[in-house]
Parts: sequence; structure tokens; C-alpha cells
Amino acid sequence: MTDFSGKTGLVVGVANKRSIAWAIAQTTATRGARIALTYQGRFEENVQELSSGLPHPPIVLPCDVTSDDDISAVFARLDEEFGGLDFLVHGAAFARKEELSAPFVATTREGFRLAMDISAYSLIALARGAVPLMEKRGGGSIVTLTYLGSERVFPNYNVMGVAKAALEANVRYLAADLGPKNIRVNAVSAGPIKTISAMGISGFSSILGVYRERAPLRRNVDTTEVGEAAAFLLSDAGRGISGEVLMVDAGFHVMGM
Ligand code: NAD
Repeated sequence: MTDFSGKTGLVVGVANKRSIAWAIAQTTATRGARIALTYQGRFEENVQELSSGLPHPPIVLPCDVTSDDDISAVFARLDEEFGGLDFLVHGAAFARKEELSAPFVATTREGFRLAMDISAYSLIALARGAVPLMEKRGGGSIVTLTYLGSERVFPNYNVMGVAKAALEANVRYLAADLGPKNIRVNAVSAGPIKTISAMGISGFSSILGVYRERAPLRRNVDTTEVGEAAAFLLSDAGRGISGEVLMVDAGFHVMGM
């Protein structure tokens, strides 16, 4: 059921080998998927190098998710190469460093706009591009990555928490909109993991420590665990699930104190 033989997928958000999106790319590709990876400009070399280690060499394309032209070019190319699409992974997020260290009340209009555009709106833009290709396959599955900072306050997560709240609402609205086309839309809410994005959050190491101390499993999660959960939602095993936020955080979210 979590076999991806004969399936094609697009994975957006790989920056390096620590990226959560990379774990999802590996999990799906090693189970038979033919995938395409996109990179944001400065990560081209990393992504090209990583991709060469996958069993079916992926298509590697540039895509800045703030650019509608980039997004259109990606789906045009995928239509040519794959003739359809079974799954989409959205792992792009960004907030300016200043917004992740200043008091929340100091969030700027531009910082808010940028975080929302890259971290939340881009899911809608990518889903819109994916729909015609998924329709050719009779349906599809979309997974994005979120964090508990959407619902609870974590120090310095600030505008990213607001963007994740919007992202999770996007998941529900897209699930309702695209469900009649047999396209499912879900999110995996990962516990904290040391990645490039996470290191931009001031005091991130202390968040890791709190999880280790208080999560029911008394540890943090790693990217392979998040990759497996995402692969489940992307695969036929998750075919009855849409509009869901699946927590992969060693159980941390259930604790009151
Ligand atoms: P990462 O830095 O490896 O990935 C973030 C990706 O976003 C990078 O590949 C970057 O190139 C991409 N990106 C940023 N701006 C972009 C743009 N304009 N166009 C295209 N791509 C752009 O870090 P990660 O932790 O793997 O993050 C992946 C997702 O997981 C993010 O949505 C993040 O918020 C989420 N997440 C991370 C954690 C964590 O603790 N690391 C926890 C929960 C959720």
C-alpha cells in the first residue's frame, strides 16, 4: 500500500541532506516513485548532487515559489516528462531573520507579506498547477509540512506561527475544493529538527531540549520518521484521509505540562 511503483511525484523544498523534503523524496523514490525535485537558486548544486544518489534519477528544476512563471514552467515540463502527476510535496517556508528574533508586535508589513507568500500562499499556487496533471491520473495526493507553532506560542517562532496557521487552513480549504477530483490534501506537523530553516529561529536548541524532556517518547523526531509519515499520506494507504494535520512529534502536542 505504501508502494510507489508507477507513481510520479514533485518534491518542492529540498535544500540539503537535512531537509525534511529530502527525506520524503528518498522514501518515495526508494519505493519506486519517479520524482522531480525543485530547488531555490542557491541550492542548485546541493540538490543536483543529492539527486544523483536516488534510484531513478529525478528531474531537477529551478523554482522560486514566489514566481508564477517558475511554477508554470515546472508543471509544463512535468506534463511533458511524466504526462501526469500522482503526488506533490510542499516543503517551502521562509521568514526574515529579523521577524524571528524581534518581539512579535514589531512584525513588519513586508516581513508578514513575505512569510505568508512563501510559506502559505505557495501551497495554493502549486496545488493549482498540479490539478490538471493529477486529473490525468484520476486523482492525487498533496502533503505540506507544518509546525505546532500554528496553534501554540513558541518563543521567536512569531510570524512563522501565523503563516503555519494560514497554511493549515489552506489544507482544509484545498481538501474541500479538490476532493471531488479525488485529490487529497494533508499536512504533517513535525516536531523540531535541526535544518537550515530551523537554525534561523533564535533559541531553537532550547525548543529541542523541551521536547526531549516533556514529549511522551522523551526524544525528538528525525527526518526519516517525518518522511515515512508523509509517504503514508501520499500513498494509497492514506486514501481515506484528507484535510488532516498528522502530528509526528513524539507525542509532544498531547501534553498539558
Ligand atoms: P529546509 O531549510 O531544509 O527547507 C526549507 C525549504 O524552503 C528550502 O529548501 C528552501 O530552499 C525553501 N524555500 C524558501 N524560500 C523559497 C522560495 N522563495 N522558493 C522556493 N523554495 C523556497 O528546512 P526544513 O526544516 O526541512 O523545512 C521544510 C518544511 O518543514 C518547512 O515548511 C518548515 O517550516 C517545516 N517544518 C520544519 C520543522 C523543523 O523543526 N525543521 C518542524 C516542523 C515543520
